[in-house]
Amino acid sequence: MISNLKDEALWKIDSSRIHDNGIFAARDIPLETRIIEYIGRKITKAEANRRGLALFESSKTVGGGAVYIFQLNKKYDIDGNVPENHARLINHSCDPNCEARKIRGRIWIVALRDVTAGEELTYDYGYDLEHFLDHPCKCGSENCLGYIVGTDSHKKLKKILRNRRRRKRGNNQKPKPE
Ligand SMILES: [Zn+2]
Repeated sequence: MISNLKDEALWKIDSSRIHDNGIFAARDIPLETRIIEYIGRKITKAEANRRGLALFESSKTVGGGAVYIFQLNKKYDIDGNVPENHARLINHSCDPNCEARKIRGRIWIVALRDVTAGEELTYDYGYDLEHFLDHPCKCGSENCLGYIVGTDSHKKLKKILRNRRRRKRGNNQKPKPE
């Protein structure tokens, strides 16, 4: 088990090219390491609903926009929108190097591969396709789709974007009305 003190040495906050401030690897981190705990206020489902926050079934999923809700179990969620939750600064990437994982009732950001010192930590926010245009992605990865959408929806989004481009081209080719 990694102590909190050691956790601190694994990551640091710095300004991000993706968005605002991000979390960066402070040293080389091996695959499967628990890097930082995603902490927050434990709230009941009812409370989360009262706050009007969208809830999703997947443990990896955060709600849209500035919602920081993780499903913890059938009864409780974690609202990570608290200042002491530094993990809330982690940005989304279309090719993430970490994932959020539930481990014995807590949520950890875990390395999906070996991470090099200085690399920005990212995970898949898991947004669905709804309102994807409101969530542009600037992750800069080779396979960036341009929008923050969960891996599960990448195929569908690619199709939507292809059709949009095709429609645009079609409109440009139309002769101008007399
Ligand atoms: Zn991206």
